[in-house]
Amino acid sequence: TVRESAEYASFDRIFGIETEYGVSVTGADAPLEGANVAMAMFEPVMRRYRSTNTFVDNGSRLYVDVGAHPEYATAEARSSYDALCSDLAGERIMRGLALDAQERLRAEHGEALRVHVFKNNVDSAGHSFGCHENYLVRRFVPLDTIRAVLLPFLISRQLFTGAGRYADGRMYYTQRASFVNETISSATTRARPMVNTRDEPHANPDEYRRLHVIIGDSNRSQWATYMKLATTHVVLSMMEEAQRGSLDMEELSHMALADAVASNMRVNEDGAAAVMELACGGSISALDMQRRYYAYAREFVRGHERALASSWPDALHPLSWVMGQWGRVLDLLGENDVDALAPYVDWAAKTVWLRRLQRRHPLNEARLVQLDMDYHDVANGSLYPSLERHGAMARLARPEDVDRAEHVPPADTRAALRGAFVNATTQAGLRHDCDWTRLTLMEPVRMGCELLDPFSATPTSAYEELMARIASASRD
Ligand code: ATP
Ligand code: MG
Ligand code: MG
Repeated sequence: TVRESAEYASFDRIFGIETEYGVSVTGADAPLEGANVAMAMFEPVMRRYRSTNTFVDNGSRLYVDVGAHPEYATAEARSSYDALCSDLAGERIMRGLALDAQERLRAEHGEALRVHVFKNNVDSAGHSFGCHENYLVRRFVPLDTIRAVLLPFLISRQLFTGAGRYADGRMYYTQRASFVNETISSATTRARPMVNTRDEPHANPDEYRRLHVIIGDSNRSQWATYMKLATTHVVLSMMEEAQRGSLDMEELSHMALADAVASNMRVNEDGAAAVMELACGGSISALDMQRRYYAYAREFVRGHERALASSWPDALHPLSWVMGQWGRVLDLLGENDVDALAPYVDWAAKTVWLRRLQRRHPLNEARLVQLDMDYHDVANGSLYPSLERHGAMARLARPEDVDRAEHVPPADTRAALRGAFVNATTQAGLRHDCDWTRLTLMEPVRMGCELLDPFSATPTSAYEELMARIASASRD
């Protein structure tokens, strides 16, 4: 679409999902650390890219630090659909690396060895690791507004985005909530905030910030991954519009919480009925909080249909579809219809399927905890693939789109330029280096170019020179 006026770009968004995975191993004939398995997984990455911290051909980042938490950060996407496909491609990449490492490790440690790669947020020793959502947000939205208007949404959103965690004989709603102990801060090591304010916009810093949301769980449900980003996009768009002065958010700013951390823990324990104390006095249930946002958002989407649609390149799932899904899940939560929620919502899927398995044969606590873990295991898990085979989980991503996303970046962001650069340098065997805003060729000459605009997939002249240099080096 041709953009006719500034208004048409006012809700453009960049989405990115960072997923840390947990690695462990069973069946080895000798003790083996998860960290060693993670290093074994990354041997082929090291061979291909000469580093274990790299960008790959689909424009995403693949990374392992010391420790057992490999990470995949999706390439910049303009829609939650593209982010979902890239995230699912990341699951496949991790699975491929795990099964390949498993082959090699079996030769050394016996055929019973299995590598497990968990897309969840708590390991068996109770350590937590993250799933970060990244949203490009206009800088004129102040942090105070984010605290007042966004946090109550993010916390009550857990009702349908929570991945659930089986512990102490029950299903909690989320993986992360019991580890989050701050609202908004720039620290992530000692403190665990809901929103991280470390200011690395990976874009023009005068115009944008990269909102770094770290309150959420990693999801297996495609629907949950998609809706997590899509509903947050709508709320962010309302906040931006309010800041521009053409939307009154009075009502929503009254949703500010007296104690966000306590409310988050309440939602984790009590779900829809969780009581959230408001800063202005009084309280509201988590479900009613979501209903308020939903009602507000529905008006907003109706009133800004054209501008929103021009910023939302997902013809299969227009925002009217998103609003329909959002309304429906709130209704099902209101009816406490866990069976009907199960195809969409991870905590509900685990509740229903653990209950069914339990009915067939009584399972002890340890086995239930193990089944919960199995649901998140993208390498050797059996529960989730079996649910998918039986059509028990809603699918959003077309298989051909996920196939494609494994090697092809979104075509309408700078990730397209990065992907082509990574491909060309890797095929030519030339050392190179990337970050989100820069591409650098290290040999035969050192040269580079900047990609400061995440929305632009149009080659700059510096980019064209760089690519021409790579082409001539590979002919030599
Ligand atoms: P970490 O939290 O692991 O220390 P980080 O949050 O700085 O690191 P990465 O793990 O490198 O960053 O991931 C960055 C994510 O942000 C990616 O998913 C990427 O697509 C996304 N992203 C890149 N540029 C922007 C932008 N301008 N606005 C929003 N998201 C962006
Ligand atoms: Mg990261
Ligand atoms: Mg991050």
